[in-house]
Amino acid sequence: MLPVVKTAAPGSTAGELVPDVPPSGVSFEGYDKGAAERYMREQNPYPRALASVDDGDGGALFTGKRAVVVGAGPAGSTAAMFLARQGFQVEVYERRPEPKNDPVDTGRAYIIILIPRGQAALKELGIKLPVDEHFRSLGTVSHNAKGKTRVSKEEGNVTFSRSGLAQWLIDTARRRYPGRITYTFNLAAEEIDFKNKKIRFGTPGGIMSPSRNVSYDLLVGTDGVASQVRGALAGYWSREGQPYNVEVDDSGREYKVYMGLKGDIEPPEFEGKTGASLHLYTSDDPFTSFTAHSNPDGTYSGTFSLQTGGFKDLHAPADYEALMKAKFKGVPEDWIPAVAQQLAAAPASPAGKRVRVSRMWGPGTVLLGDAAHAVTPVFGQGANSALESCLVLNQALTEAKGNVDAVPERFNELRLEDAHSLYELDRKAYSFFRRKGPFDPDFLQLLAHVILGTILSKIVPFIYGSRPALLRLGSGIPYSQITAAVTRDAKLAAVLLLALIAFTAAKLCKLI
Ligand SMILES: Cc1cc2nc3c(=O)[nH]c(=O)nc-3n(C[C@H](O)[C@H](O)[C@H](O)COP(=O)(O)OP(=O)(O)OC[C@H]3O[C@@H](n4cnc5c(N)ncnc54)[C@H](O)[C@@H]3O)c2cc1C
Repeated sequence: MLPVVKTAAPGSTAGELVPDVPPSGVSFEGYDKGAAERYMREQNPYPRALASVDDGDGGALFTGKRAVVVGAGPAGSTAAMFLARQGFQVEVYERRPEPKNDPVDTGRAYIIILIPRGQAALKELGIKLPVDEHFRSLGTVSHNAKGKTRVSKEEGNVTFSRSGLAQWLIDTARRRYPGRITYTFNLAAEEIDFKNKKIRFGTPGGIMSPSRNVSYDLLVGTDGVASQVRGALAGYWSREGQPYNVEVDDSGREYKVYMGLKGDIEPPEFEGKTGASLHLYTSDDPFTSFTAHSNPDGTYSGTFSLQTGGFKDLHAPADYEALMKAKFKGVPEDWIPAVAQQLAAAPASPAGKRVRVSRMWGPGTVLLGDAAHAVTPVFGQGANSALESCLVLNQALTEAKGNVDAVPERFNELRLEDAHSLYELDRKAYSFFRRKGPFDPDFLQLLAHVILGTILSKIVPFIYGSRPALLRLGSGIPYSQITAAVTRDAKLAAVLLLALIAFTAAKLCKLI
């Protein structure tokens, strides 16, 4: 292990000295016989970084270099730990208060399920998952419009609220790299001088507060879907006369949250087990959905989603009650009045955006997480892909062998195609919500892949593999391989369909 520096860096508001003890927790062994370990061993598209970086034998190639991370979300803290492990002195700046002190961030409304794809980055860092069994995810219960339920047990995943995950990673980063990673809250990135590697931070909305200018060797933009770093990069590339495209699509949906409901809604499959369950209630209209997830205290929280603008027509609790009764068969009846009360009083939030950038880098700068490749919640990939990108950053750092200026472009080479493929998968999934009907080409492609893939995986598993790639989204199979499989299977399905039509026509002609 590297020697532990027991002093807080100048400028740290964290300022606390923490003992060099590993975070408490259980090992991955308890989870689905080590799903994340399997991912690292068999499926990880990115070669493992040098195991020697943590050794005191000179493996930390970036010692003496300073990295600035913008944003203390899941991606920011995970990237900070990889940077610290590679020898950087890391400063993380966050425009909001620390999650545990943030009164706005109630955070229990939607859960993030960490699947092996996201867990792999933590595994690579040697971080153990939280010890409380309530963090374990038991699986998903889908309730359809007719009130039928389908249970999928998904052992091996862990659940967090978004702010719970952010705080847990902040605590872990501080504990593992005391003095090497420092956090400063309530300061937002405002201006970046890419040529001279300087960034200015200021207090959001604070006219009187002095700004802080910070120099860096490497800047990591993990400041979320409305990224300032991305905006500054776009300006930089356009001044350089280089094209830089940013596409930001809206999910077209909004959601409201409710909390604190009680009830016995677990299926017999989960009886006697402790852990979080995710209930997805669908209606006859793809835009209208209801979720419920179990919390460690035995209550349920969740979301109610509608097409953007849909909440404008709903005013009193009675409006919500009527809609819920009309649309959902599976939601417990005694929940409806309580949920309706809360929903009528709650503000609506946009249900995610989808982002594609033409480059995830600039001079001395890397962009990752939602800032670079946000997706809507449809596949539950946002935080998981963000953590996976941190693993890729680690590979770029390792390959750069101490040459900090080589890191950003190498990271981009390693990750851009997968980030674009993730965007494409998310876009295709939304064909379901666009309601263009059953002949929507995107919808047909996904359908063909899943149906044909399922058949082929049963008939010729040794050629095709165990399941369609899309259904293995959680496993860590590269996003680019999934889009390639979808395209290939859709083409194959079209050829087979044409052959079937030709064959039937020929038969009919003979008969006639
Ligand atoms: C309803 C919903 C459900 C979701 N469900 C899932 C799920 O099941 N699974 C999953 O993997 N993902 C899910 N996600 C997505 C997930 O929340 C995000 O992908 C994830 O939080 C991205 O992490 P990040 O660190 O890149 O960005 P963020 O979490 O957005 O963090 C960015 C941070 O940067 C800070 N910041 C912003 N601007 C500045 C600035 N100028 N200066 C300093 N700091 C700044 C922000 O305050 C924030 O703390 C869901 C999202 C939504 C909305």
